[in-house]
Amino acid sequence: LPVVFLALTHHPVYNKNREVIASALTTVDLHDLARVAATYGLDGFYVVQPLDDQRRLAADMIAHWQSGPGGAYNRDRAEAMALARLTASLAEAKDDIARRCGRPPLAVATTAISRPGAISYSAVRQTWTDGRPVLIVFGTAWGLADQAMAECDACLAPIVGPGDYNHLSVRSAAGIIIDRLLGRSDDDANQGR
Ligand code: SAM
Repeated sequence: LPVVFLALTHHPVYNKNREVIASALTTVDLHDLARVAATYGLDGFYVVQPLDDQRRLAADMIAHWQSGPGGAYNRDRAEAMALARLTASLAEAKDDIARRCGRPPLAVATTAISRPGAISYSAVRQTWTDGRPVLIVFGTAWGLADQAMAECDACLAPIVGPGDYNHLSVRSAAGIIIDRLLGRSDDDANQGR
């Protein structure tokens, strides 16, 4: 089975003026990405957040749904949120995966912008045939800064529709990208595979 992780990156990302910032948490992003990770059998979901006050908020939220009153109330959320881990940087997330899996992940950035050298979904799938873990990296705010891209080994080709507009929420982008990488087709599902 492929070993796949997600990262939701709050730093380094761009703001509207293309300055590098750390963004604030959006609670629904944590829930929705955790549910994507759980639905597709991913191995973990990293919340990358360096700001202390935001880290406390994230830690409280994860604990509330993992083991606190929220988890007791809604076991589906608890199960999904059990996959969440908080790190201060992308490097820390990659180190954690290396420690858990015994080898560093192939880190694959995502973006709405076409970049030269971007790789296809099938190219990502080929990398995991040899058992190397894969970390799919998502941005927040106005997207991953170049320095985050530089920390990744590859960049996935953007999701595009028929027109020019392709600025998806990170929740939609994560659902589509992980389904393209790991989802079964209708035909497979209908055949009970
Ligand atoms: N405030 C926005 C929200 O509500 O999610 C955050 C936008 S943030 C730039 C969205 C992230 O989703 C990007 O950094 C990227 O990881 C991913 N994303 C968005 N559109 C995409 C596309 N067309 N193709 C691939 N990834 C995309």
